[in-house]
Formats: sequence, C-alpha cells, structure tokens
Amino acid sequence: MDKETVVELKKIVKIYGEHKVLKNVDFDLRSGEIHCLVGENGAGKSTLIKILSGAVTPESGEIFILGKHTRGLNPRLAIELGITTVYQDAELVDSLTVAENVFLGNELNSSIPLKINKRKQVEETERIFRRLGINLNPDEYVANLSTAQKQMLQIAKALHRSAKVIIMDEPTSSLGLEETKALLNLLKNLRSQGLGIIYISHYLNEIFDIADRLTILKDGEKVGTYSATEIDVNTVIKKMVGRDTALFFQRRPVQIKEVLLRVNRLTKKGIVNGVTFDVKRGEVFGIGGLVGSGRTELVSMIYGALRPDDGEIFLKNERIELKSPLDAMKKGICFVSEDRKKLGMFTGRNLVENLVIAKNNLSKRFLLNLNQEVILSTEIVRKLSIAVADRDQLIEELSGGNQQKTIIGRWLLNTDALLYIFDEPTKGVDIGAREQIYEIILQLAEQGKSIIMVSSDMPELLSMSDRIGVMRNGEMTHILENRNVKEEDLMKLFIGV
Ligand code: ADP
Ligand code: MG
Repeated sequence: MDKETVVELKKIVKIYGEHKVLKNVDFDLRSGEIHCLVGENGAGKSTLIKILSGAVTPESGEIFILGKHTRGLNPRLAIELGITTVYQDAELVDSLTVAENVFLGNELNSSIPLKINKRKQVEETERIFRRLGINLNPDEYVANLSTAQKQMLQIAKALHRSAKVIIMDEPTSSLGLEETKALLNLLKNLRSQGLGIIYISHYLNEIFDIADRLTILKDGEKVGTYSATEIDVNTVIKKMVGRDTALFFQRRPVQIKEVLLRVNRLTKKGIVNGVTFDVKRGEVFGIGGLVGSGRTELVSMIYGALRPDDGEIFLKNERIELKSPLDAMKKGICFVSEDRKKLGMFTGRNLVENLVIAKNNLSKRFLLNLNQEVILSTEIVRKLSIAVADRDQLIEELSGGNQQKTIIGRWLLNTDALLYIFDEPTKGVDIGAREQIYEIILQLAEQGKSIIMVSSDMPELLSMSDRIGVMRNGEMTHILENRNVKEEDLMKLFIGV
C-alpha cells in the first residue's frame, strides 16, 4: 500500500506568556505508520499534539489534514476530520456499558423510532473488537474496566467513527507489563490496517519496539525526524538532553545539618517497594524518575495521605505513624501539591483565606481575627511578590504561578514546620515565578528545614537538589550526590538503559 501523508504541521509556533514553547516545528504523519514523539519533560510534545487535536490554538503555522489546509481547528472539527486523541480517562461514561459507549452520540436506531437497537450495537461492537483482537465484553459496565481496557475501548470507539489518526500521549505510564504489550500489539494491528498513529512515551524501549519514525523535540525545537532503523537509544538520549542553560538555576549552597527524616524500607504493595533514604536539615533531596515510577505514592506515605503496608518513618529519630495529612502537618510535615486545583487550592475563597487556612486548621483554639490575618497575609504577599489586584480577589482568578506561590505561602505561615514536600513545584509556572519559588525553597533550607522535591523537570532537579533519589518501577535504585551529575546519565538511570 502506498503511504500517503495524512497530517502535516508546518512552522508551528506556540507562546505561553513570554515563553515560546514551540518554535517553528514541522511534523508529518503518514497512513500506516507509527510516528513517535520523544523529548524531555517540557520539550513541547503534549502541546504539539494538542494543537493537532484542536485543544490548543497556535500563534502561527499551518495545519494540513488529508492534504487540506485546515483553519480554526477545534476538538469537534478534529474528530470530524478523523483525528482522535485517546486520553487516560476522559470521554467515557462509567454508568453505560462498553457497547453503549462505543455508540455514544452515534446510536443505532431500531425500527421503533427513538428506541436504540441494543442488539445491533453489541454485534457491531463485537465485530470491531474481533477486527482489532480486543478481548472485552460489550455488556460490561465501563465503571468495571481497568485503565488499559478503557484506552482500548476509546480506540474502538474512534474506529467506529472512522478515525484516520490515533494520538496517544504517554498511555503506558499507568499500565502493567502485560497491558502495555497488549496495547502495543493493538497499535501495530491498527498500523497494518492503514491508520496513522502518533505515540508519545518516555519509555524508549517501547518507542524502538513500535516506531517507524521518531521526531525528537528539545526546548520547543525540532531536533530532527529519524527512521527508527537509522538511530539507536544512546543517540536519541544524547539528542534529547543538553537543555537550554536559561532553564538551569544557579543556586547557592546551604549548610547541611543533622538527619531529620529517615525512611526505612517503606512499602506500598505493587507500587513502592522497600524504599530507604534520609533527608537532612538544610538539604534539598530531589526525587526523579518517570511518571508511574512510584514517586508520588512514595511521598504520599510521608505526608500521611497513603498508609504504608510495611516500613518505618522516623522524624528526629522518633518513629512516627501518620494517620492523615492533617496529622502529618501537626508533626511538622507540609505538602505542596502538583495538582493545585485538587489538593491545594480552596476555590471560591480569596487570597487571605487561602493563605491562613493552614494556620487556622492547625490551631482551632485560637482563631485568628481578621485583622491579624490581613497583616500576616500582606507580609506573605510582599515576601513572595504575589501579583494580586486586591486581597478579595478569588484564588482561581490568579495566574498559575501566583496560585502556586499562595499555596507555598500558606506553609510559610506555619513556622513549626520541619519538612516541606514539594511535588512538581513549578509545573505550569512561568520562568519568572519559577525562580521565585526556587528562592523560597532555598530560604526554607537556610532556616534549617528539610526539603523533598519530586520533579520531572530535569534542569530543576539538577539545579536544586543536593542529592537525587532515582525511582524506577517502585524502587529507589540510586541515590546520587548531585555534583556534576549529567542530564544524559540521569536520563539513562530513569529509563534503565
Ligand atoms: P511535554 O509534553 O514535552 O512534557 P508540554 O507540551 O506539556 O511538554 O509543555 C511545554 C512547555 O509549555 C512547558 O514549559 C510547559 O510548562 C509549558 N506549558 C504547557 N501548557 C501550558 C499552559 N497551559 N500554560 C503555560 N505554560 C504551559
Ligand atoms: Mg507531555
């Protein structure tokens, strides 16, 4: 079969604030091919595919779909043109069956008007599944499916809508080995049926298993497009790293004191496996690894959100058992979340309320009066240079960087804190605010606090950490003294090559 170009992106530019995240990127996809996008975190992979799926509008550049110049792409139009993005969760209705989901919004009517022909839907679903070698019961409720099964269902649904292009962004980060193998086989199967597939993954072994071509992005620029047979893993890693020096932060040294936290063989079955490390006062302990390596679950046990199955946590040489995040907070362990919206922000509340909430929670006995709250908040706003129009402004109206600073500011008010855990502290934060957050982290270290910083951002991890713990498949495989650690070597440890 002659391979035709189904998608072509030309000179795509995307800018967020002052940050150019895609710089004249070209990309093309042929039918019957798997084209992988690789690059470090923040390279611009997700943004590029969001542009193709109509979720993000570029500043400039052209998009051709099946040879036709397409303007004003939006998610609905992209789907109509045959481009489907498979997300980890979204889009499916839990309370409906597998077959009902395949036909959702596209139901088969029976001879009785408005009555959906369920039998036909089940038969048609079975036919699609057979064609793809998917093993799923059409009558099962979606609520009972695993993540892997949901992804397969979304692919089947896309085919039912005659998709020409399937896009998957890190689909295997939460899948097991067998599930990953099944998904990769399904993708190969789709390829042989003439679909074009764009596949993003950090797992280079997966890439080399399925890719026909791969495109490497670095700092928003295309490094190159290669046939998978003409390039090897080590060369790919070399071309991914060497990030822009502007992304690195020159931090000052802080005096490191005695051990504050000691974690011994901490285990959550199937997720975190016997992790042991310590963190000293004044130290920034970075935790790196790929998404799904167990980093978030590891720290969740240290701030009381997840109960370990085994292992011990010592704070100041005393064994502690944490029943909840509030319990951890009372013992001096503060957590600043990656997911501001879900865990950190109290929407519908203003800046002052968001700042003082920790303080009030901790000591209900002496509720601060409003005046005191305002004085304290004003000080924090000044100290962290939070850009806010007035104190009554709702937190959701602030920019991402200012929201993040507010949440961090909240913990600065809690002066009894001993250990701060940051999970992706600068995710979605612009470069200016990023440096201020680093400054806050350093000031905390200088006050003798201990810092644990989980980060997927390689320059951040390398700039800020005194030591780096490498997580892979639930284990802390290495603890590196961060002197002259090279990006390339760190990346190899994450991936395990
Ligand atoms: P990748 O998928 O390769 O990890 P992304 O495309 O998600 O990279 O991000 C590229 C850059 O764009 C990053 O620096 C990221 O912080 C920034 N970015 C992504 N989405 C937004 C957004 N909605 N607002 C501001 N910056 C963003
Ligand atoms: Mg991404």
